[in-house]
Amino acid sequence: MPELPEVETIVRGLRECLPGKTVSGIAVHREKQVVNTSVSSFKSFLVGETFESVGRFGKYLHFLFSSGKQMVTHLRMTGKFIDPCMVAGDAELRHVRIEFEFTDGSRLLYNDPRTFGTFTVYPAGATPPEMNRIGSEPLDLKLTARMLAFQAKIRTIPVKVVLLDQKFIAGLGNIYVCEALFHAGIDPARAACDIPLAEWDVLLEAIRSVLRRAIDLNGTSISDFRSVDDKTGQFQDMLMVYQRTGEPCRKCGELIERIRQSQRSTFFCPHCQS
Ligand SMILES: [Zn+2]
Repeated sequence: MPELPEVETIVRGLRECLPGKTVSGIAVHREKQVVNTSVSSFKSFLVGETFESVGRFGKYLHFLFSSGKQMVTHLRMTGKFIDPCMVAGDAELRHVRIEFEFTDGSRLLYNDPRTFGTFTVYPAGATPPEMNRIGSEPLDLKLTARMLAFQAKIRTIPVKVVLLDQKFIAGLGNIYVCEALFHAGIDPARAACDIPLAEWDVLLEAIRSVLRRAIDLNGTSISDFRSVDDKTGQFQDMLMVYQRTGEPCRKCGELIERIRQSQRSTFFCPHCQS
């Protein structure tokens, strides 16, 4: 599932080719993926609109049109955009769910084998409700360790589970939470409320540096993530704990362990994170 760095990589790819393109037609092959309006309203709302910019909040993509209208997409498990400059393979064309045609003859394809991705549209000036459902953006420098420590005061559950909660902090999934906790030297099983401010400082810095490095490397290619221009992410080569159960820790040599927390695997070094 794409996490913040993968979505950011996709957004950066789309920024290269979408702004200035005007929608001339839309084909929706899987109607349930348009969630807050009917397919016919979705089409009439967007045909004739020109893409102005592409942004991201948490794991959502935010498309702004010149008129101020907005479209928000969440890729969920397997969603992916194939940009107009890219040649798609046959396998990808089998799973195209939504096609945007542009007045210059090019197309943006949305491919999604498992069809869990969502599209919503909003008028100019509206605040998409998705924005209110998520917590602070980790790369936003307005977020401080003190804010996280304050929010964590009432959370008696493990810090690992709290970091996956999109309302606590936006955009993090299993890979980057495990990696950040390793770099911060924090045991994933500790209760969030027991972590002192000084350690939230270290943890927030670890989250940011892991995310920045992953964005620089176009994300992590585990399962089938590809960026818009089909470059493979390279962050998997930097992983310290994620999916390394039984392998020696790259820092201390102790074997990496795996535990289950809230139905998800957690990978950690019992020596570095004690
Ligand atoms: Zn270690």
